[in-house]
Amino acid sequence: MKITDLKCAIIGDNPIVRITTDEGIDGYGQAEWTKPYLKPFVHFYKDLVLDQDPTDVERVMTRIRRLGSFKPWGAAVSAIEVALWDIAGKAAGVPVYKLLGGKVRDKVRVYNGGRRVPLKGNEPEHYAENMAIMKEFPENFSIIKQGIAFHSGMGREIPDYFYGEMPAGNTRGAFGGPMTERGLSHTIKCVEAMKDVLGDEVGLALDCGPGMTVPDTLRLAKALEPLNIMWLEDTITGDYTPYVLPENFREVTTQTSTPIHTGEQIYLRQNFKDLIETKAVNVIGPDPLDVGGIAEMKWIAEYADLHGILMAPHGVADGLIGLAAHVHMAATLPRNYIALEYPAGKPDWWYGLIDGLPNPIVENSHIKVWDTPGLGISFNIPEAKKHLEDEDKGFFD
Ligand SMILES: [Mg+2]
Repeated sequence: MKITDLKCAIIGDNPIVRITTDEGIDGYGQAEWTKPYLKPFVHFYKDLVLDQDPTDVERVMTRIRRLGSFKPWGAAVSAIEVALWDIAGKAAGVPVYKLLGGKVRDKVRVYNGGRRVPLKGNEPEHYAENMAIMKEFPENFSIIKQGIAFHSGMGREIPDYFYGEMPAGNTRGAFGGPMTERGLSHTIKCVEAMKDVLGDEVGLALDCGPGMTVPDTLRLAKALEPLNIMWLEDTITGDYTPYVLPENFREVTTQTSTPIHTGEQIYLRQNFKDLIETKAVNVIGPDPLDVGGIAEMKWIAEYADLHGILMAPHGVADGLIGLAAHVHMAATLPRNYIALEYPAGKPDWWYGLIDGLPNPIVENSHIKVWDTPGLGISFNIPEAKKHLEDEDKGFFD
C-alpha cells in the first residue's frame, strides 16, 4: 500500500488531516480547534510521506518526526501519525487499540476540563456556584478541572494579585510572577469553596499557570494538602512554554503531598526523559495531538509507569477525531492511567459530521471503547461538505 495524498482542510477551525492510499483506504487525524493556522504545516510534510507504506507507521514517522517541536509545532506531525494508525487499523481490519498492544480496559475514564458554563466572577462564591452546576452535568464527571491563579481571570481581575505587570490584550497566558500574600490567600479561598461543593464525591484538579514561581507553587501546594486535590497543573512551566525546567518542578514535588502535574506542551518522549527519570512531577499530561501521536504517548505512559508517575492526558480542544484517538490510546495504557481530558466537538455541528461514536458519548464519567476497524469513526460526507471552505472543496475527493 502506498500513500497517494496528504490533505488538510480547516472545518470550523478544526485542522483535519486526510491521507489517501492507492488501495482506496483513507485515514483521518486532526489537531486542536484552537489551531486553524496549521494547514501549511501539514502540507510541509507531504512530499516526505508520499509513496510510503502507511501501515509501516513508524517508518513513516521517522521521516517527519524530527521536523516538529513543542506546542503548537508538533500538532501537524501528531495529526499525521493518528491518520496513519487509522489506515493501518482499517487495512488490518482491527481497531487501532489492537495495534497499540491491545486494550486493558473496556471503558476509559474522562475528566471534565472543557464542558463549561461561564464563571460569573473571580470570587470564591463564583467558583462554588460554577462547580455546583458542573457537578450536575449528565456526564456525571468524577473529576473536574478548574483554572485558578494565572490560568484564570484572577491575575487580571483581583487587585494586587501579583507583583508582576499584567500585559494588555491577548496574551495567550504570557504573564505571571511572584504572587502577593493577598493573591495567594484569595486563590486558596476559591479552592476551598469549590471543595465545599464537591466534597469527596468528585475529584478536583487545578490548572494554575504557567507563570507561578517555585516558592508560590510550594506554598499553594502545601496549603492545599488537606484538601486532597487531584493535581496542580502547569504551575511553573506548561502550556505553550517551549521548555520544561524539570528541576524547578522537582523542588516542589519533593516537598509536598499535593500531586504536581505538567506536560501538555511537550513534544516527543525525549523531552519527557528528565521529567520522568528525576521524578520531577507526580502526574504527566501529554496531549496525543501535540506530543507526536498516540504511539508516542503510549511509550511515554509505559516509561512513566516504571517510575511511579501517573497519566492524565490533555485533550480539551482535540475535537471528535481527537476523541477517537484518545479512546484507542487510553484503552491500552497501564495502571498509571487516571483519566483523559474529555474533548468536546466544536462548533456543536461537529456532532452531526462524525459517525461511530457512542451515544451518549460519556456515561458515568466513562467512554465505552468501540471495536470497529481503524479509529472506528467515519465522516458523514454530505453533511461535512456543507462546512468546507472553497479552497477545501476537493478534500473528500
Ligand atoms: Mg492545562
